[in-house]
Amino acid sequence: MVEQQRRPVILIVEDEESYQDALSIGLSVEGFVVVGATNIAEARELLVTAKPDLVLLDVMLPDGSGLDYCRELHDTTRIPIIMVTARTGEVDVILGLEIGATDYVTKPYRLRELVARIRAVLRRPTSISEGEVVNFGDLRIDFIRRTVTRRGHEVELSRKEFDLLALFATRLGQVVTREVCLDTLWWGLELSDTRTLDTHVKRLRQKIEDDPANPRHLLTIRGVGFRLDA
Ligand code: CA
Repeated sequence: MVEQQRRPVILIVEDEESYQDALSIGLSVEGFVVVGATNIAEARELLVTAKPDLVLLDVMLPDGSGLDYCRELHDTTRIPIIMVTARTGEVDVILGLEIGATDYVTKPYRLRELVARIRAVLRRPTSISEGEVVNFGDLRIDFIRRTVTRRGHEVELSRKEFDLLALFATRLGQVVTREVCLDTLWWGLELSDTRTLDTHVKRLRQKIEDDPANPRHLLTIRGVGFRLDA
């Protein structure tokens, strides 16, 4: 799949000048086009005029809550959102509210960490495969609605399970390494702690395979990763 050579546009919604300035410089150096809003009203305008590929959204903003704006963005667009929070206590809130954030970072964060997360989010199959429906075997994956049906019946998947299946589906017939799975879906998780990945693969098999113990579609490639076959 050939991607456009256009540099990704990042919209930073942040009222603290020190963060705005540092991020604008830092992310520009990393090859991103940066547009900045200091409040939600400005962000709404830039969303239309600058067409960002990703929104970096602060929680505490002068004209409202970043959490509410995140939900609004999630309901009205498909732009990935990284929430920025100043307190670790807010992370549970962000995750618990299911407001549609793709990822989050906690202040103070290092630029390298943020850039790695931005790249990981932009690489996600859901943003690449936007608009596609993939059919294989008795499965049908709708990337817009984020739904999976099997023999016409909807399969209930968690967000991570869908992301994982989508990752495999965009590389149908190819081996996807454990590293790629972890890097794409669980940024920052140590390679040595891959039980989470195995648990999700197991659950996916239970939902998409006739005989999960002897999978026909989602195969383990020992020592390397996984492969989804049609
Ligand atoms: Ca703030």
